[in-house]
Amino acid sequence: MVRLSFYGGVGEIGGNKILVEERGTKIFLDFGQSFTFGAGFFVDYLQPRTLSMLKDLLEFDLLPRIKGLYAEGLLERTGIGYTEPEIDAVLLSHAHFDHCQHICYIDPKIPVFLGEGTKIFLECMEEISYSCKYGDHDYRTFRSGAKIKAGGMRIEPVHVDHSIPGAYGYLVETSAGVIAYTGDLRAHGPRKDMTEEFVEKAAAAEPVALICEGTRMEEVERRQNYSEAQVREKGEEIVGGTDKIVFVMRYSRDIDRFRTFYEIAKANGRDLVISPKSAYLLGRLIEDEHLDVPDPRTDGAIRVYYRRKKSGTYDDSDYYKWEREYLDRMVTCEEIRKRQKEYLMELDFYQLTELIDIRPERGAHLIRSMSEPFSDEDLSEEVLQNWVEHFGLEFHQMHASGHLSREQLEWLVDTIAPKKIFPVHTENPQLFKKRWKNAVATRCNASIILN
Ligand SMILES: [Zn+2]
Repeated sequence: MVRLSFYGGVGEIGGNKILVEERGTKIFLDFGQSFTFGAGFFVDYLQPRTLSMLKDLLEFDLLPRIKGLYAEGLLERTGIGYTEPEIDAVLLSHAHFDHCQHICYIDPKIPVFLGEGTKIFLECMEEISYSCKYGDHDYRTFRSGAKIKAGGMRIEPVHVDHSIPGAYGYLVETSAGVIAYTGDLRAHGPRKDMTEEFVEKAAAAEPVALICEGTRMEEVERRQNYSEAQVREKGEEIVGGTDKIVFVMRYSRDIDRFRTFYEIAKANGRDLVISPKSAYLLGRLIEDEHLDVPDPRTDGAIRVYYRRKKSGTYDDSDYYKWEREYLDRMVTCEEIRKRQKEYLMELDFYQLTELIDIRPERGAHLIRSMSEPFSDEDLSEEVLQNWVEHFGLEFHQMHASGHLSREQLEWLVDTIAPKKIFPVHTENPQLFKKRWKNAVATRCNASIILN
């Protein structure tokens, strides 16, 4: 008997936690945090208590009540006694927080399988962010095509193209047949060949079940989306057509987007200015020889922007240890202000205040290469547009999503042709049901028997 249980990612985008069990073997596919996690019980400074985090979350069933899953120390005061692990493995698809964040609660004795790239991302996040702690784990890294053994199950990770390096789908062998899990994926990025390989392998396995992401499964797509190549083309037009500074906003872990603007900068004889955080991440990612990223320590086209801190004099001691590695690649607001046309600069929303010192010429450009806001009443959007107007910037929106379009999704499901489809990571599971007779409506905290 093969049982599938969904503890997150049902009827919402993100928070995937999928339990697969058979004959005493239990594995979790992802263990993420949903974007709306805790809403309804916690808000602003009303948050779970540090000393009894797990207890406070279990109180409202915000995490599954499963024996042999959580770390011993965290179970104190919860009323759930500690038992040795009853979960054989947790398999992470990639390092986005809605797929991995909640591993911080699980027993360190449970092996966590993940791609090399994912492990580097998790380590970086712990090093550069105070609030990000995943806890100790028995991490086991793999490469695409490896055969993982967990309890009595064999699992094959297959790389996919997503908006973060090191993303994988999984093929889980069970007595009922293969269960294919997509993780998050797209087919319009620079490595769409990896997604194609996943689809090919999944189709060949004639899966009994396909657990499929559906982020962009909508009646009508509400937001503009490009391919990565189109972002390159449109970005090139803007940068090539101006002698003013160009700012760009992107997701910090989207390395494809970094590469796109790095290439645009180089093609136009500009330096790409990045934050110490991005430099640190790139400096770590070059350890993975499968990722083709430039080395910020030596690459002549990359400069690192240091904002003034503490003493205000750019003294080494003003910066965190991990930030200091790139001080010799430093560019300051004074230099940028003087030679604006020589730079293409990454600028995070929370660093907009640097514009006050950089003083961009009127008519300079700001490209938001991220998702458009979900609602018209988005407060940050209003604030951003006020900054744009105040500094007389020209604003551009251009983004390539990390997820399959509806059309690509239909191609993926039809090509794999599974016996049953389980939509996850989507607000519209009913659209799967409408399109495919064999799509199954899942419920959160509920199980389905496969044979
Ligand atoms: Zn993702």
